[in-house]
Amino acid sequence: MHEFPITGSIIDILKKTIEDKDIKKVLKVNLLINPYGGIEPESIKFYYEFLTKDDPVLKDARLIFKKEKIKIKCINCGQCFKVFKLISTCNTCKGTNLSISFPEDIKIKSIEI
Ligand SMILES: [Zn+2]
Repeated sequence: MHEFPITGSIIDILKKTIEDKDIKKVLKVNLLINPYGGIEPESIKFYYEFLTKDDPVLKDARLIFKKEKIKIKCINCGQCFKVFKLISTCNTCKGTNLSISFPEDIKIKSIEI
């Protein structure tokens, strides 16, 4: 259910951008999601439609979701990886002491107008 406030904050950011740049119509919103963030694109689309139904600028925009890679650094050999699926051992030295940084659950990459 946390998609509802998330969608609200995405729309807030979009509205600010629209105002700043005097945009008349948003056709597409490209979003990046954390593959392990538990975000359901279908729910975001549903709430987006609901929350923008009276907004002529944002209404009917297509939401495109892409997965963002996870950054992993091997503490052992210093090697860095970017992966969609978590790994438990380093590809280079087979070490298991990995530092993992997940991307934000969702962020706006770009919009098309
Ligand atoms: Zn390593």
